[in-house]
Order: sequence, then structure tokens, then C-alpha cells
Amino acid sequence: MSDDQQPQHPVGGARRPSEQGLATQAIHRGAQFRESTGAVVPPLFQTSTFESGNPGGFDYTRSGNPNFRNLADVLAGLEGAAFATVFGSGVSAITAVASTLQSGDLVVAEENVYGCTYRLFEQVFAKFGVRVEYRDLTDGAEVERLSGHSAALVWIESPTNPMLKVIDIAAVAEASHAGGAALVVDNTFASSILQRPLELGADLSLLSTTKYSNGHSDALGGVVCTDSEPWFEKMEFAQKALGLQPSPFDCWLTQRGVKTQPLRMERHCANALALARFLEAESGAVWVRYPFLPSHPQYELARRQMRGGSGIVSAELGLPLQATVRFLDRLNLFPRAESLGGVESLCCHPASMTHASVPKAAREAVGISDSLVRFSVGVEAIDDLVADLRGALSEVGR
Ligand SMILES: *Cc1c(COP(=O)(O)O)cnc(C)c1O
Repeated sequence: MSDDQQPQHPVGGARRPSEQGLATQAIHRGAQFRESTGAVVPPLFQTSTFESGNPGGFDYTRSGNPNFRNLADVLAGLEGAAFATVFGSGVSAITAVASTLQSGDLVVAEENVYGCTYRLFEQVFAKFGVRVEYRDLTDGAEVERLSGHSAALVWIESPTNPMLKVIDIAAVAEASHAGGAALVVDNTFASSILQRPLELGADLSLLSTTKYSNGHSDALGGVVCTDSEPWFEKMEFAQKALGLQPSPFDCWLTQRGVKTQPLRMERHCANALALARFLEAESGAVWVRYPFLPSHPQYELARRQMRGGSGIVSAELGLPLQATVRFLDRLNLFPRAESLGGVESLCCHPASMTHASVPKAAREAVGISDSLVRFSVGVEAIDDLVADLRGALSEVGR
């Protein structure tokens, strides 16, 4: 088939599991629509509409664009999925999945679910009669109880934010299915490179591609991956019917980022592990959490389920609020910012940033104290990152 005769099926090629390595797929998949120019990189299709009867079956960009199809193809490949649908942000992808629920449906969500997912359930979908119950799914008894629920969806993240709890995806999938629920895994923190939820039994794997997929903090996006054709059709419908589509340019940028994702994840993992070890050994922290530190409560599970620990490290520094803020201010290579997964390191103070709207008592009940800090460890030289932390720690007497 030439580039000009595209299959009508957006990611039909992804149905055959590829035997190529992730680093090869990240670079070579999703390279359609180069047409007759010989361009090594497919161009940007910055168009809102298409002439009827074109071989790609395109009509209007809200319901499809060559840049969407190329990005969906490579993201499906990395996730080992038959199908993928791209969205304008991670929250758009979450909205697409939640929009399939009916009034009266029950969702069982992990209690440490991403803040914007919680807000969407509580402040938007609750108005339409969707009920959500929150459970600690690191607790095996709670996982078993899922098989007795009549939930429509079970919603988890692993690792979670910011506590980095690791949830047993295969066990949760089995119990969810026994109770008749579909399992959605938000795979953003691990990324497709390190964790394959669909292979562990999940029905949907969802990512904010804003984070590790793009990796350069310059575009937003989301994706829902699945092996189920009916779910894929629901996601394609949501993309156009709810207006959740990405921009062609953001897809093009994200695809550019994806090419180096396997390479970047290696460095994120190595840097984060080194930094976590340093903090555990030398910072005087009360605890340091990283999935691949032997002190992590679900260390064995993390080693089984993930190919690397990813790039996020959380630490309870055990300092008063003022000293915690002084420590963060003194860091040079970790600007205080929300988001994660970019090449640059960032730090986050959940109590005053991501979780500021949560009352102090409620925050502390789930472990988010005034001196909890979260690092998104970038791909800089590790010696510089450690030296920066060392300097800021000495500023607060550590
Ligand atoms: C950032 C994030 C989202 C939301 O993604 P956006 O692209 O910011 O809309 C969802 N889930 C997790 C775990 C995230 O970190």
C-alpha cells in the first residue's frame, strides 16, 4: 500500500503485535502520510477540513486528522494495544471514558486517585448521577471485595500521586472482571515504556501524554489505549461528539517527543533511583518513597509489574512548613512547578500546590503533610542534581 492509499481503519496496523523493540517502534511507527515528498518526518496537517472522497477517509479535524492517526499508531504500539484514540489532554481522555457511564452507575476508584479525576467525578459527573466510592487498593481485602461489587468501572493509577503506592493491576483486573466491571488504569506515572496494563488484564490504559510521552513540557495531550473494538469505537465517538480532540500541532510535537521516550525513560529511572538512594541515606528524611527502593511497601510487586521505577520520588522531610519552603526555594535545578515527566527536573510541594484546596486534616489523613515534597527527576547529570539537593539540605541544617 502506498502512503497515499491509507486504510480506512485508523490504527488497523496495530492489531498485529509488533516484534520490534520499543525503541524501534517509537521512532518508526506512525510514519504515514508522507506522500510523494520523501519527507522523513510526516508533515503537520494544520487543516480544519478535508475534501470529500479522499483516500484516508478524513472529513473534519474534530473527528480525525493524519497527525492524530500517526500519533495513535505509535502510542498503541508502545502500549502493546490494538487501538488508541488521542485527546486534547489527559483530562480529556478521562472525560471520554467517564462519558460512557450512565446515571446510577457506580465507579470504584483508588483513594489516592489523581486530583483532577476526583474533581471531575465529584463536581461534574456526580451531577449526572454517577456514584464513586474510594478504596485503598493496596489492601488485598479491598481488592477481593471488588468481585462482589456491581461497579461499571474500577479506576486506578499505579504508581499513585504523590504517595507512589503501587497497585497490583493483575489482581485488580481479575477481581473487577469477576464483579462485572471494566478496569481503567491511568498509566501516566509509569508510562507505556515501563508498564503494560493491558497485558496485565486492564480493559483501558489511559495516559496524559503531556508528561513522559511528550517529555518536553511544550504540549498537552491524552490517549486511551485498548484491545477492545467496542471500547475503541466509544472513544472515537467521544473524541468527536464531546469535542475532546487534540490539535494537529500538539500531536506532531508529541510524536517528536515520543521518538526519544525509550531513551529518556532509562535516564529518568537511573537518575530517580540514585536520587532516592541519596535522600534515604543522607537527607535525614522520615521516609523516602520510590517504587524501586527496597524500603517501598510494594517493592516486590513494583519489580514484577514495572520495568523500571520511573522518574518520581516523594519524601517526607520531617521539617516545619517554613523550613520545607526554604529548602525548596534554595534548589536551583528543581523549579517549583506542577506537572512532571519532562526532561527538566521539577519539585512540587503538594500541601501548598496540587492539594492546597484539600483541608489540612483530610490531606494529612492520606499522608500529605506540610513537609512532603515530590521530585520529578529529569535527565540532567545526576551529580549536579545531587549537589543541588545537598546544598539546599545544608541550608535547613541537614
Ligand atoms: C497530569 C495527569 C493527568 C491529566 O493530564 P493533563 O494532560 O494535565 O490533562 C491525569 N492523570 C495523571 C496521573 C496525571 O499526572
